Amino acid sequence: MATAYDHLLKLLLIGDAGVGKSSLLLRFCDDTYDEHIQSTIGVDFKVKHATVDSKRVKLTVWDTAGQERFRTLTSSYYRGAHAVLLVYDVTRRDTFENLAEWLKEVSSYSPNAGEGVVKLLVGNKSDLLDGEGVEAVTMDEADAWARANGMLFLKASAKNKEGVVECFNEVVSRILSRP
Ligand code: GDP
Repeated sequence: MATAYDHLLKLLLIGDAGVGKSSLLLRFCDDTYDEHIQSTIGVDFKVKHATVDSKRVKLTVWDTAGQERFRTLTSSYYRGAHAVLLVYDVTRRDTFENLAEWLKEVSSYSPNAGEGVVKLLVGNKSDLLDGEGVEAVTMDEADAWARANGMLFLKASAKNKEGVVECFNEVVSRILSRP
């Protein structure tokens, strides 16, 4: 049956407004990209079926629907989440620096201070790094921050697809391999 699955998983996208959360959601779930995406008309979540490590998974991927602008994400957004993708824009250093605040929120709203939640750092808009001098955060720095905070770092581009499927496969694989 097409709808059968072994695991139902809730994944969250968080990070500052404009880093590309909705675009990553659309790229991963629908394989579409919209240059003129309306940040205010966000979707709550999309469903995607996938097979990872030979397991059939049904993923609900949640977007903040623009609420992150007002810092009004509440515990209900985080409730029951198996993984969090912390997204920043590789050309905007402020979006990287704000991740510490986002991580605090994950800890305060998740059971066991977020210990059981799989986390992945995503540097989005990697397509823009083809130009000179726009990299606002070095890959070494992002990698070090991710490691210090118990997560992996991957680059992605919702625009040209680079790394998008890999990001989601990575978090699902980590969720499934937990004891
Ligand atoms: P959100 O507020 O975090 O959900 O971000 P959006 O998905 O609304 O994206 C904000 C802006 O960045 C939009 O104009 C997108 O078209 C653009 N954008 C998103 N992802 C990428 C990407 O990978 N590369 C480039 N160049 N632009 C992107």
